[in-house]
Amino acid sequence: MNTAALKSSILLIYTGGTIGMKEDPVDQTLKPFDFSQILDEVPELGKFACRIDSHTFDPLIDSSDVEPRMWQELVSLIDRKYEEYDGFVILHGTDTMAYSASTLSFMIEGLTKPIIFTGSQLPIGRPRTDGKENLISAVEIAAAKDDQGHAVVPEVCICFDNVLMRGNRTSKINSSDFRAFRSENFPALAEAGINIRYNRAVIRYPEDWERRPIFDTEIDPRIAILKIHPGITENVVRDILLSPEPRAVIIETYGSGNAPSKPWFLSSVRRACEEGKIVVNVTQCLAGNVDMSIYATGKALEKAGVLSGHDSTTESALGKLFHLMGKSSSNDYVKKEMLKNLRGEITK
Ligand code: ASP
Repeated sequence: MNTAALKSSILLIYTGGTIGMKEDPVDQTLKPFDFSQILDEVPELGKFACRIDSHTFDPLIDSSDVEPRMWQELVSLIDRKYEEYDGFVILHGTDTMAYSASTLSFMIEGLTKPIIFTGSQLPIGRPRTDGKENLISAVEIAAAKDDQGHAVVPEVCICFDNVLMRGNRTSKINSSDFRAFRSENFPALAEAGINIRYNRAVIRYPEDWERRPIFDTEIDPRIAILKIHPGITENVVRDILLSPEPRAVIIETYGSGNAPSKPWFLSSVRRACEEGKIVVNVTQCLAGNVDMSIYATGKALEKAGVLSGHDSTTESALGKLFHLMGKSSSNDYVKKEMLKNLRGEITK
């Protein structure tokens, strides 16, 4: 495979976050820098045999402020520019990067080009920044093509600290180390050492390289997350499960999908399911999967009509629901699709 010979063009999309900040010499605060001058900050990018254009979001945001509107804007932008570029690199704050990467993976079906999210723990202007490495690896991966001119990784990914992960398998697990993200339930798609080693056996490829992807910007955000814990009260559970606003509730359960066996807990879950709500069981554990058949406490949820989230991350279950609920007003349709592996997000 010759991943560098064919000249590629990359669109670098800057949404905000630490990576694009520089210390203002006057007041020493961190401020976004002008991204059209990215080559001045990272001259190494000029050494790639590829064209890099940039697009800066206005306003730039700390990713704590990400809303579905930004995902819709990102997907519309990629849709408009899809033919013009071979790959897309999205610079994004780390705090919600796993949510954005997960949701985008569902909003685009039949992807044939890479969409690589990256960011950094230290601003790009700082001497020990991880931003340069992350950006350079992300660009190299987004530009990589095989001998037929096809993208080596046509997926929505997160590239961080020399590891390329499937976006909808990733969670932020550390707020202070350079290794900020993990994909516990799925192997890395690539690792960057002296060379970038691609794990082609696990990368997803489109059925038809010639078919244009489907870009879907509809999102329904009426979802609640109920994280159970010892001591959770009946009113809290009822308020979340039975309030009229959410169409779907993700229950973050213990271990392999277990929840309290108290009658008041189960009757709230049962009522929510009977009302037609979409109730999904995702484990609080960082790794492993939900299997509601093992313990009586899990079995009771299954009998009530709760859907297994399998080995999904919470971020991915949320993104999948945002997309499926935006696509259809039928909860039965959403429930059926939730159990399918749509973008490599669950192991089935
Ligand atoms: N608060 C920042 C953000 O998520 C942190 C970062 O970029 O790492 O936008």
